[in-house]
Amino acid sequence: MSTVVESPLLPVYPPTRVTFVAGDGMWLLDEEGRAYLDFAAGIAVVGLGHRHPAPLAAAHEQLDRLWHASNLFGTEPAAELAAKLSARFGGAQSFFCNSGAEANEAALKYARKATGKAGVIALEGGFHGRTLGALSVTGQAANRAAFVEEGARFVQPNDVDGLRAAMSDEVGLIILEPVLGEGGVVPLSADFVSAADELDALLCFDEVQTGVGRTGTFFAWEQLSVRPSLLTLAKGLANGLPIGCLLVAEEAAGAFAPGDHGSTFGGNPVSCAAACAVLDTIDETLLAQVRANGARLLAGVATLPGVVEARGAGLLVGAELDKPAQPVVDAALDVGLVCLTSGPNVLRLAPPLVAEPEHVEQALEILREVIA
Ligand SMILES: *Cc1c(COP(=O)(O)O)cnc(C)c1O
Repeated sequence: MSTVVESPLLPVYPPTRVTFVAGDGMWLLDEEGRAYLDFAAGIAVVGLGHRHPAPLAAAHEQLDRLWHASNLFGTEPAAELAAKLSARFGGAQSFFCNSGAEANEAALKYARKATGKAGVIALEGGFHGRTLGALSVTGQAANRAAFVEEGARFVQPNDVDGLRAAMSDEVGLIILEPVLGEGGVVPLSADFVSAADELDALLCFDEVQTGVGRTGTFFAWEQLSVRPSLLTLAKGLANGLPIGCLLVAEEAAGAFAPGDHGSTFGGNPVSCAAACAVLDTIDETLLAQVRANGARLLAGVATLPGVVEARGAGLLVGAELDKPAQPVVDAALDVGLVCLTSGPNVLRLAPPLVAEPEHVEQALEILREVIA
């Protein structure tokens, strides 16, 4: 096999047109010194905006103190972060890793160990990561095709009858995103989530994208009145430093013993110190701001030309277009607005949670120009 190698990077991502060299709050700067308003936040990661002073100072301080000690020993930031997450959740134990996919791998292993069952129900259009286990429960057939033969039992989002029909004695885990972040920004209904909660399986919410304030509450489940047994976090947790987390509710504790799971880098002190600062910063005032600006963005997006439906929660907003979304994202980038797609026809907006009304107006103005 002979191929022309054009880049030293494996070509798993589409070619990029812009190289960013700096960030500040809501703004990114490219090599030529052009400023871009950031309504992507590194795919819903940089929740507090670029170089937010709180995680920046916490990470700096930890960099100067201790980078790594291994999980053979305790470190202060990991213990402190676990305590803060438990308090937010209402009683849970944490396992720290480095990414969303890894957090979901931990959830899949935990559910198997706890229930002795390998069957999983997941959602059509759902996304849980690129590793083999996470991919096997990802409801995007094209991404699975070349890599996994047998996946989960996939159910349409919000199809309560389909969910009940998929349940059987072999199912130990139901894994759901409260809002499907990659599958078109589809919020789950409270009825559907309650029906999932009533079935005799562990319920895991993948809050890798919806968690850490993105939807206007710290966890998205707070708006659904169903607290799951398992919950995964990653993207926004350390404002851009790599981290993932599996939370196990106290009621579901006890399945893992020493040796059952682990990660060399998991619980990295610098990432955990930054995450502690993120949690301290996401208070009720900021969450109220996310809800208000999210409502403003959602209402504005609904009035854009060619928008079939606007949906979302907090500052995770999707606009289903009457045409492909990628050309709109490309045109917006050309005039200085960074945004995302979510599936072929959905434009996704996920700005830093610190966005102000004037940023929302500015983004809507640019979109109105380029969408037509
Ligand atoms: C991004 C994402 C993942 C995967 O996270 P990685 O850090 O890329 O492994 C999993 N689940 C959801 C809902 C995501 O949005």
